[in-house]
Amino acid sequence: MNFDPTDDQRRWRDMARDFAQSAIRPRAGQLDREQRFPYDIVAEMAGLGLMGLTLPEEYGGSGGDFVAYSLALEEISRADTSVGITMEAHISLGCAPLAAYGTDEQKDKFLRPCATGERLWAFGLTEEEAGTDAGGTRTTAELRDGHWVINGSKKWITNSGTDVTAGVTVIARTGTRDDSKPELTALIVPQETPGYTRGPAYEKLGWRASDQHPLFFEDCHVPEENLLGERGAGLRQFLRTLDGGRVAVAALSVGLAQACFDEAISRARERRQFGRSIAEFQAIQFKLSDMAMEIELARNLVLKAAWLKDRGRPFSREASMAKVFASEAAKRAADQAVQIHGGEGFMEGSAVARYWRQVKINEIGEGTSEINRQIIARSLLKQGAEEAKLVAQ
Ligand SMILES: Cc1cc2nc3c(=O)[nH]c(=O)nc-3n(C[C@H](O)[C@H](O)[C@H](O)COP(=O)(O)OP(=O)(O)OC[C@H]3O[C@@H](n4cnc5c(N)ncnc54)[C@H](O)[C@@H]3O)c2cc1C
Repeated sequence: MNFDPTDDQRRWRDMARDFAQSAIRPRAGQLDREQRFPYDIVAEMAGLGLMGLTLPEEYGGSGGDFVAYSLALEEISRADTSVGITMEAHISLGCAPLAAYGTDEQKDKFLRPCATGERLWAFGLTEEEAGTDAGGTRTTAELRDGHWVINGSKKWITNSGTDVTAGVTVIARTGTRDDSKPELTALIVPQETPGYTRGPAYEKLGWRASDQHPLFFEDCHVPEENLLGERGAGLRQFLRTLDGGRVAVAALSVGLAQACFDEAISRARERRQFGRSIAEFQAIQFKLSDMAMEIELARNLVLKAAWLKDRGRPFSREASMAKVFASEAAKRAADQAVQIHGGEGFMEGSAVARYWRQVKINEIGEGTSEINRQIIARSLLKQGAEEAKLVAQ
């Protein structure tokens, strides 16, 4: 077994780290306070190829593998998870479905400007009545005279309202299946389509320099050819997309946990009480050891899931494991980082206070910990039943 990254993976990781530490980290606190989307940072990341890291070179992307993407995303998120989620939602949610299910014409028209990172693309699944229960989608699309006519709304959609957003792929109900469940279909909606509007950006606890809006569709017409993939396959396509997204959100969590550790160890070395550095107290050392162990474990889970994905092997269970473990390890790391800072960690200006606020969303976005545990359990039970069948034969 080889734990060494390839030259290409190392190059992406090191480049992302250099850029993140010099251009993102020093500004993260201010961007969070001002709740301002960092257009200049995103443009620079596009120039470095980071905003299209896994997207096909043929369409202007960087053609990197998922391990390289996970390593780079960890480094970006270590500097700021707002920028991390902007990159993640653009690549994994916005562009990956266009690359996976789009026709050549769709890729040329919609993916190409986004794979370079000049424009952003969003993915709209969540609605008022459809959160974890994605099948509860109420937004409808009716095929009329060569157009899909979309009516309904979406909420909390990342990258949907920036000045450089080119559009969104939405899941809509296009009919009822034979088993009386809704037929859900993915449709491509360019940003300036009449009948498509966005509400104001949300005030949030974390990811405050990233962009989320509610979306509204009122008799919004898109051409019939804006169907992405197969009619009725929207939910299946999206669930596959989410598997990759979960590995990426797990990488983002590892980056945040690492940032907590970085701050905690540096504070532990500097802060003196009882005439010595608090790093000399065993109680503090054990906290640092636990954080480091959990980060190492989470990173290994992320890289294994990414490695499986790169080889075209099943990775859904590993993706959920990585997502749950890394997000919860990051939460514990943020908590202990504040504890090691004492009262200083409770002050608004301190980085660990910001990390503590930001970390919660990692257990919610792209599938809550509860639903991911169910996915893991379902896969274990299925495997158990298959193994039992083999033993009985
Ligand atoms: C900042 C932010 C950005 C986002 N970006 C996007 C985006 O770009 N695109 C998009 O489509 N969505 C986006 N979302 C939505 C996100 O994916 C959902 O918040 C998430 O899927 C959970 O849905 P919910 O919030 O409605 O929670 P709910 O579904 O209401 O769940 C509430 C609680 O009930 C639990 N629960 C629900 N069902 C079950 C069950 N069957 N068994 C056990 N427990 C259960 C959940 O785990 C959770 O603890 C974003 C959300 C936020 C906050």
